[in-house]
Amino acid sequence: MAALDSVEKMMSDIQYPIKGSCQCGNIRYQLLAPPLKIMACHCKACQKLSTSAFSITALVKADSLVVQGELAQWERLAESGNKNYAKFCPYCGNRIYHFNPDQPETIKLKAASLDDTRILNPEAHIWVCQKQDWYQIPEGVPQFDKQP
Ligand SMILES: [Zn+2]
Ligand SMILES: [Zn+2]
Repeated sequence: MAALDSVEKMMSDIQYPIKGSCQCGNIRYQLLAPPLKIMACHCKACQKLSTSAFSITALVKADSLVVQGELAQWERLAESGNKNYAKFCPYCGNRIYHFNPDQPETIKLKAASLDDTRILNPEAHIWVCQKQDWYQIPEGVPQFDKQP
């Protein structure tokens, strides 16, 4: 259990709030409390938005995120029919978070923009049906074909 102990110790070292910002610095924010869940999403939309093989999202309580700066918004519908609204920096285009206006109590923070990214260790991988073949999900981490 040494590995697990060291992960727990590392997590307990993390001090909140953690600051974050977009690439150009126009948007700054603070995450006041630990996320409820960290997920990796391998869907095509996340590949486009992250310019990578998957995006990492921290599900956080809406009241634990404090944002400074004017965000632009883009609205889309998820395959489930749920509204998925995207907030991003109007200057550099960096995606800051997604939210569903029908479920305003939680926010999907695009947490790669945090200054301290040690918390970005996904607890689950979703939309694995669109995953890049070369990427191996670490053993023991739950995975789902689509949105669980
Ligand atoms: Zn920016
Ligand atoms: Zn996705």
